Amino acid sequence: MTDRLYYTDARLDRFTAAVLDITNDGRRVVLDRTAFYPTSGGQPHDVGTLGGIAVVDVIDEDDRIAHCLADPIGVPVGSVLIGQVDMTRRVDHMQQHTGQHLLSALLTDEFGWPTVSVHFGDESNTIDVTCGNFDPTTLAAIERRANTLIVQNRRVTVSFENAAEATGLRKPSDRDGELRIVTIEGIDRSACGGTHVDGTGEIGALLLRRAEKTKGHTRIEFICGHRAVSRARLDAELLTRAARTLSAAPQDLPGLVEQQMQRLTEGERERKRLAGELARYQATAMWTASVPDRDGVRRITVSVTGAVKDAEPLAQQLVALGSCAVVVTNSEAGGVLMATAADTGIDAGQQLRAALQGVGGRGGGSPRLAQGTVPDPAQLHRMLEHLGFLPPLPERLA
Ligand SMILES: [Zn+2]
Repeated sequence: MTDRLYYTDARLDRFTAAVLDITNDGRRVVLDRTAFYPTSGGQPHDVGTLGGIAVVDVIDEDDRIAHCLADPIGVPVGSVLIGQVDMTRRVDHMQQHTGQHLLSALLTDEFGWPTVSVHFGDESNTIDVTCGNFDPTTLAAIERRANTLIVQNRRVTVSFENAAEATGLRKPSDRDGELRIVTIEGIDRSACGGTHVDGTGEIGALLLRRAEKTKGHTRIEFICGHRAVSRARLDAELLTRAARTLSAAPQDLPGLVEQQMQRLTEGERERKRLAGELARYQATAMWTASVPDRDGVRRITVSVTGAVKDAEPLAQQLVALGSCAVVVTNSEAGGVLMATAADTGIDAGQQLRAALQGVGGRGGGSPRLAQGTVPDPAQLHRMLEHLGFLPPLPERLA
């Protein structure tokens, strides 16, 4: 059986203990007593060293606690080892955990939202509560109240009481015998095996990040202590960086971003309108410069470097001028698009499909507009010949 030293002294970081059991590989050690907190009750395990070797996991085995080591330790049962708990991580967990007790008590008693579950993470923690209509502005009120209770530095004490006689517990315990009860003066009494600070003042600060609806509950993200300050620091840096990019003060960012988004939408609308206009001018110039074939149809080829689909507005403008058939190609990707004016009588879908089949490609479409690809772009010229088109002008010159 392992004596849990952290039950009575959460500040104890250095201790000696005897080895009760050790696995053959020397990586898993059970001690007669330990200050290492094992993962339990939602609180993550401690890290540190045992006999100078890094402790990477601590496991609760009911009446024993196992310490998992990064490297094997070659000692027999009965050896005495020095354990050292990493207090930076421990104090952080104490701040998060006590902050959670405070928050749960506050949410239940003052806002009527009982806690359903809690999760402690490496970066932030969440608490799921039952509440009816959640108003986001309430978040600020809860945060203000929690920090007031922190400033009041209420005493946090641990007592061991008989389960049958313990009264005023927030949640009745289903355990028999002795209970470990954590009391926040005037606020809360909860049965808990975790590590806590000695006064709410040591929580330092409580920051609520956000709340969201989840499976019938409301999940509130919170962080305490140094973590809350570090996060606020990071947020300030991110805001400053964004503000610098826009040459604005951080408080002007929301309005400015909204304004910029609006301008972007307007700009995009204007760009599309201009592209349409440009296509109309280009089409007129190309149509006029082209020479009709013997059948009176102007067969125009256009070569593009981007997607052939992007040249569709130009192709549409060309066929709108009448007596015209257009083929757009991308010689790198092997893309091809064909559009025809109704008065040509040429079925773009049928013709393109047949031409593509001749070179192992695939595609098709309607009589007026069709699209496809050839697996080998070098075959594009053959395909154009099949359609009765000349290669695009720049490629004819090259
Ligand atoms: Zn606790």
